[in-house]
Amino acid sequence: MNPVTAALPVIESCDGCGVCCLVVTHPPYYSVFQEFGEEAWERLKRERRDLVIEIAVDYRRRHDAGEPLSGTPCLWYDPATRRCRHYEYRPLACREFEVGSEDCLDARRRAGIDVGE
Ligand code: SF4
Ligand code: SF4
Repeated sequence: MNPVTAALPVIESCDGCGVCCLVVTHPPYYSVFQEFGEEAWERLKRERRDLVIEIAVDYRRRHDAGEPLSGTPCLWYDPATRRCRHYEYRPLACREFEVGSEDCLDARRRAGIDVGE
């Protein structure tokens, strides 16, 4: 185990957290408005065209209204449950954001959630 990892407090679950979903505004797919994209995006296009349209409509509405296109809660974030509404389709960036990593702990610290230190 590397010494940095060994020094981190152990966070085993996202339950009751969700703070890393509060700053992306839309599901952070790669190449989201291009003809190709990551596997989860391609699957979303095949299986849930309604969700693709929902993202595009929200993006356009925000753009036209001059609202932020980043730094706000993700469109798919459910504040009541603090969970992703479409977890099975979440982007690679969300899959790779590791629970208990330094980025995770930073996000929790910024949100005032106990990191066990
Ligand atoms: S900040 Fe960490 S614990 Fe919280 S939801 Fe994101 S990955 Fe999970
Ligand atoms: S896990 Fe879901 S709610 Fe959170 S940022 Fe990713 S797509 Fe959005």
